[in-house]
Amino acid sequence: MGIMTGRSIIERGVTQHRADALLVACGDYRFVDDWHKFMCEKGLNYKYYCYTPPGATKGIISPRSALSDTRLDDIATYWRASQGQIRTVFELHHEDCAAYGRSLAFTCAEDERRRHFEDMRVARLAIDRRLMIEHERMNPIAPFDVSYVLAYGHVKPNKTDDYDFEILEDIDGVLGRPTAPPDERPFAAL
Ligand SMILES: [Zn+2]
Repeated sequence: MGIMTGRSIIERGVTQHRADALLVACGDYRFVDDWHKFMCEKGLNYKYYCYTPPGATKGIISPRSALSDTRLDDIATYWRASQGQIRTVFELHHEDCAAYGRSLAFTCAEDERRRHFEDMRVARLAIDRRLMIEHERMNPIAPFDVSYVLAYGHVKPNKTDDYDFEILEDIDGVLGRPTAPPDERPFAAL
């Protein structure tokens, strides 16, 4: 048995708190404040893990590629950090994303939006498969119950760095559920 020395876990600020949402969003500097505001408006301030690779879930769309494996491994790390408590995964993409060659790579705004939506749906299935595997390793008896919200940021008219969100998919009606009061705890331990 080891000898307890130094400060306790609580004194070191390591808590048992676990977030029950995971956000996968593009880390574009123009987009960051918008998706954080979006999550706060959903009552999730300090209640979500945040994974921000370029293009959000774009790296996940090529099955069994090294990049896809890396992205899914990272998401699985958040799942384990939550001890399997993540119940909602948010995928937030945005217009004029550099990972997609910006808006210039598309013939029109609708083509761009459609491509993002298709990629998000492909990624959703891959994330779900991976989380189900993690869940079965961790707690094979409990039912697997994860919902997904897919949203797309449109550049606001006459702006270059502000976004309005369009909800593309919320099959389980997550956004219609009442949310808990704001939680001002300083951070969720990873
Ligand atoms: Zn982007």
